[in-house]
Amino acid sequence: MPTLIDTAPPAAVPALPSLVGATREELRARMVEMGVAPAKARMRAEQLWRWIYHYGVADFAQMTNVAKELRAELAQHFTLARPQIVEKQVSIDGTRKYLIRLAPGVEAEAVFIPDVGRAGALCVSSQVGCTLNCTFCHTGTQALVRNLTSAEIAAQVMIVRDDLGEWPTSNEDRLLTNIVFMGMGEPLYNLDAVDAAIGVIADGDGLSISRRRTTVSTAGVAPKIPELGERTGAMLAISLHATNDDLRNKLVPLNRKYPLAELFDAIRQYPSLGNAKRVTFEYVMLKGVNDSLAEARALVKLLAGVPAKINLIPFNPWPGTAYECSDWATIEAFAEVLNRAGYASPIRTPRGRDILAACGQLRSESVKVRASARARAATAE
Ligand code: SAH
Repeated sequence: MPTLIDTAPPAAVPALPSLVGATREELRARMVEMGVAPAKARMRAEQLWRWIYHYGVADFAQMTNVAKELRAELAQHFTLARPQIVEKQVSIDGTRKYLIRLAPGVEAEAVFIPDVGRAGALCVSSQVGCTLNCTFCHTGTQALVRNLTSAEIAAQVMIVRDDLGEWPTSNEDRLLTNIVFMGMGEPLYNLDAVDAAIGVIADGDGLSISRRRTTVSTAGVAPKIPELGERTGAMLAISLHATNDDLRNKLVPLNRKYPLAELFDAIRQYPSLGNAKRVTFEYVMLKGVNDSLAEARALVKLLAGVPAKINLIPFNPWPGTAYECSDWATIEAFAEVLNRAGYASPIRTPRGRDILAACGQLRSESVKVRASARARAATAE
């Protein structure tokens, strides 16, 4: 049975802004706003950076190399509060799912998956809801609420490091070693924030999870793909799921905008692809829809010339879906065709299915509320 560990009370609206998740530039700007002389702001920001992202302190009083008066002043202007964990669930397989409240009515999920990557991977969300409507994806049934800010993305890592008790950052026995942008939302529709968040997460003086251990997954926003590589140096994953435009148009409606030929042109332009840096193709196994051996062979053809590995994802069901997962024997036969063609094609073990934490099962109850309606609700209270 999954265990429900923590249900926190509704969030109080924090009176002061939090510095958690801020980029170096933002920290510096905050110091200047607070009255630190511009010439000193850089040094102060560096000190804060180390305390926030290397030591993970949640209280300015712990910053022992910062003058007492300055600590007091910082505490008057800012906090080091994390977004609140509204609910945490732990699967029988150790997967942890966090429902995180970013603002009143704005909630996203993040999932920590042990024994993936070097030690464990955190699946982060880049948007609340999604605009893409992929027909097999639970998140696709939730309308976009909004993009997350870079601070809100980086804060997901902070929260999980808190929960795993992994401060200060040590390079040796960390459990959280990899980041995958495979949570809610389409990261390439929020590239500025994703880029800035990766900057915070990868920084060697702080959270220190390298760009090579960070993977960004996209449903195929072709024009942004080379840019993603140039800006972030992250690994690329493509949610492919079909080998021809007809079927892909149905499963991933974004394909109508960026069909396969255009998508593959963009993938080939991803910087520094080679044996050491391969593109991951995700392929969800849908019974009787995309799982024939002919399709496995078509997939081999389609990937010709692209340094690739293929992740076969058994379809994870969710309430109300009409799709079913392919039979295990079918998935294995499909994988065999790919293996024989020389592709590493691991079948992704479903993780956290019992708590709806597996691929494509994430969804929060948040809905987009117009500012006018929010104002009315506030007045009514
Ligand atoms: N929008 C981005 C990031 C989400 S990643 C993208 O599409 O790549 C989430 C991954 O889980 C994607 O590969 C998605 O296609 C896959 N997925 C979605 N629903 C799923 C389901 N029900 N079962 C298995 N995988 C699913």
